[in-house]
This record gives sequence, C-alpha cells and structure tokens, in this order.
Amino acid sequence: MVVRFWGTRGSIPVALTAPDVKRKLVSALVKAAGRNLDTPEKARAFVDAELDFAVSHTFGGNSSCVELDTGGPDYVLCDLGSGARVFGNHVLASRGPSGQTFHVFMSHVHWDHIMGFPFFMPAYLPGNRVRIYGAHAVLEEAFRRQNAAPSFPVDFSRMGATIEFVPIEPEREYDIASLRVRAKRQRHSGDSYGYRFSSAGKSVVYSTDSEHALTDLDETASFVEFFRGADVVIFDAMYSLADAISVKADWGHSSNIVGVELCQMAEARQLCLFHHEPVHADEAIERLLTETRRFEEITRGDRKPLLVTAAYDGMEIGL
Ligand SMILES: [Zn+2]
Ligand SMILES: [Zn+2]
Repeated sequence: MVVRFWGTRGSIPVALTAPDVKRKLVSALVKAAGRNLDTPEKARAFVDAELDFAVSHTFGGNSSCVELDTGGPDYVLCDLGSGARVFGNHVLASRGPSGQTFHVFMSHVHWDHIMGFPFFMPAYLPGNRVRIYGAHAVLEEAFRRQNAAPSFPVDFSRMGATIEFVPIEPEREYDIASLRVRAKRQRHSGDSYGYRFSSAGKSVVYSTDSEHALTDLDETASFVEFFRGADVVIFDAMYSLADAISVKADWGHSSNIVGVELCQMAEARQLCLFHHEPVHADEAIERLLTETRRFEEITRGDRKPLLVTAAYDGMEIGL
C-alpha cells in the first residue's frame, strides 16, 4: 500500500507568496556561496543533500485529500479538499477520462474537506463512478449545496459521473476496495470521523479534525485502541501544545504532542503530522516537526522509536 498526499493544509488552502519564494532563494544562494554549481546535476545534488526541507521544498497549500493506493483497480481517497482537484487532473492524464471508480471516505463536511469536489473533473465525466462514504446525515446535502447557485455555476445535477452517497456506521467493519475499514467518531464541531484501514497486514489510520481531552481516560483508551499498532497514523497536528490548551481549546483540533502521546501508548510505528495551520510558513512547520521528534526521543523510555514525519503535498509513504 502507498499513502499519497494531495492536500495537507488545514482549514483553508494557502499559496506560497513572492516573499516566501525570495526568502528560500536568498537562503539557498547564501548557502551555495563559493560552490561551483555550474551544472543542473551539481545544483540538484546540492539542493538534495545540503538544503533544509523548508528551503528546498514547501509543505504545500491544498486542503485535505489523501489517497490510499492499494494496487487494485479502484481509487481510494480520504476527503475531498482542494487537493482533490490536482488528484483528479492526475487521474485524467494517466488513465483517461472515464471508466474509473473512486471510493471516498469523508471525515466530515467542513468546507476545507469538500471544496475540491466542484473542481474534481472525473465527477463531470460519464462512465466514472464516485462512491462517497460518511457517517453524517447531512453528507449529500453538503455536497449538493456547495455546487448550487448562487455559490457555484454548475449544478450538482449536471455532473455526469454516477455519484452515490453511502452511509456508514461507526465502529462497524466494512470490506471496501480490498480494504478493511472502520470509522470512529471524533470530538469536533458537528462531529468528525477517523478511519482505520487494513490490508495485507498493514494498517493506516486517518484521523484529522479531532480534538483530544487526554483527561478523559475512556476516550483516550478508545483512541489508543483505534491507533493500536498502526503502521501510520495521519494525525491532526494543527496546533502546538500551548495553543491547544490555551486560546484554542475547544476549537476542534489537536497538537503534535498529543499525537506523540497517543501513538506511543498505541505502539504505532509512524506519526504523520497533518492538517497544518494555514498561518504557519514552511520554516514553522519544519520547526514543529523537529520539536516533535525531540519530544518523542526524550519521552521514549524503553519503547521502540516512533518515526515522526510531517505530510506535504506530493509526499508518499510506502508500506
Ligand atoms: Zn479541516
Ligand atoms: Zn473541521
């Protein structure tokens, strides 16, 4: 299984600005001073080996959309944030306009998680099938409303693909697209649902837009059980711990620190920080990642190391 990230930003898409690009260029040029980088090959090797991630890359700006590539014929996605636009164009370019089936598991219907659908080209093309799974009663209504006048020019009824809304119940096991799937209700405004996917002995948890009260021991135990032994936990780490327990308590999101604690208790293998705060520049997200790794190290005790990564648009995790 390969996990592929098409959108990793929380709440609203963001773009790199001209000052951002200039800051990266200036850092790279200063670091390259005195080096004889007179061919693209030498320059590329320098960029790969010697520049910080925040200088040579960007975490990216699209909102939540994650693909689980099982190697099967159907596509599997979590959420349809603005990253779904880029994913849809990739599908058209690589597999052509029709004949595809998409299984989409929705955490919830907040705008940042559905806003890519009006720009998801395969949904307009006859011969494609889109099955949208979710536990919210308002699932279909939310999608229809965002494609309706006066907010959007093309009505939902004019989308040419076969689009089905499939209700699922939390805490029940389903077999869909060669994956075993279970949903879990999470603490968030209007509720959100996390998903645990398993296939061929590997498991991935997608848990975004979820606030945790570690003081609630039953709730904590239920998440530890949900994350138990997962190969990857994709986790809402929008806030730092200080944010999460002060001004932004009850805003429905979690922190990097809570992610480490839950994954350590669950003996998960990898924590992948996700749903990045839109005000954070690349340097701030990289700093959060470094701090999270340090926190994992000093709290590890005699447990196995927990790998900590931060998702970026275009990142792949092979399992
Ligand atoms: Zn969100
Ligand atoms: Zn939300």
